[in-house]
Amino acid sequence: MNDNTVTVIPGDGIGPDIVDATVRVLKALDCGLEFEYAIAGQTALDQGLDLVPEDTLATLKRNRLALKGPITTPVGGGFTSVNVTLRKTFDLFANVRPALSIPGVKSRYDNVDIITIRENIEGIYSGLGQTVSDDGETAELRSRITRTESERLLRFAYETAVKQGRKKVTVVHKANIMKSTSGLFLDVARKVREDYPQLEHEEMIVDATAMQLAMNPHRFDVIVTTNLFGDILSDLCAGLIGGLGVAPGANIGEHGGLFEAVHGSAPDIAGKGIANPTAIILAGAMMLDYMELHDKAKRLRDTVRDVVGKGEVVTPDLGGRASTTEFTDELIRHLTQ
Ligand code: NAD
Repeated sequence: MNDNTVTVIPGDGIGPDIVDATVRVLKALDCGLEFEYAIAGQTALDQGLDLVPEDTLATLKRNRLALKGPITTPVGGGFTSVNVTLRKTFDLFANVRPALSIPGVKSRYDNVDIITIRENIEGIYSGLGQTVSDDGETAELRSRITRTESERLLRFAYETAVKQGRKKVTVVHKANIMKSTSGLFLDVARKVREDYPQLEHEEMIVDATAMQLAMNPHRFDVIVTTNLFGDILSDLCAGLIGGLGVAPGANIGEHGGLFEAVHGSAPDIAGKGIANPTAIILAGAMMLDYMELHDKAKRLRDTVRDVVGKGEVVTPDLGGRASTTEFTDELIRHLTQ
């Protein structure tokens, strides 16, 4: 592992713009990082390469740290998701998605502070048993949950809660209906949590969780759940703090991490120069924390919160008129003044 070299995958749609913004900001922060660029997804296919080309795999293996823009995944047919491929290939088993309100950003609630930790390689996203009958009338998809992966993820979640001084962990499931898969996950949670008596424990069914998040998000602290539920609930949490433009995420494995925004490639605004890079810049701050550059991470986070919170130079999704570049310039001005 190269300690200070980060693989950068610009991605599709708004990806190159927001990744460029993030690299500029990280350079301004002067953390001594080196950046190695690589491609994946449609960009790679367009160049006649594999979905995740050999060179990209090699740089990821070497650096074990990556900053990735969103990658378009066609709905239905087309190629397998690059994101799912990368998570599986590099065993990035935990997806950490903090939703932290930024004072000044218009949103339904103030002071939301929820971390969703989502199982990242199993469940309904494992891609197992995807079939459609010859007559096109019946479709199937298998979900697989294992005790080993559930335990690894749950232990990571409880450890993260302890390390970050959190008080409560809510295990979200649907074990009343999906008795096998969700039931197994819940069973493992009940065992693992015995090792964490310092935390308050709670279990909640996923539909009730969605309602509670909308009605009273302040009752949540850390949520840990399986892949699909975590994907949906973390977008819900992003909505609570002002939208996808401000919600970062980290895919964490035993030996490395891949940092990205929760949002996708936003084809509706691609090429317009108005994408909000806040989410992936905050993912950059998560990467700095992961590298134990905590002072730099805090400085970056504080600067983003300051500039975004003031609301004077922000992108249209946050009610402003700034372009991606103008917003990034403003962040850099604050960081270097
Ligand atoms: P999306 O997140 O790209 O967009 C949803 C809405 O949010 C759009 O209106 C978009 O303009 C807006 N939005 C998203 N990010 C924004 C930003 N930074 N600034 C301003 N507005 C922003 O969701 P989608 O349209 O459902 O997905 C588009 C593509 O992205 C799909 O192919 C999907 O599979 C892919 N995707 C990739 C990832 C990833 O690479 N991690 C994650 C989610 C979706």
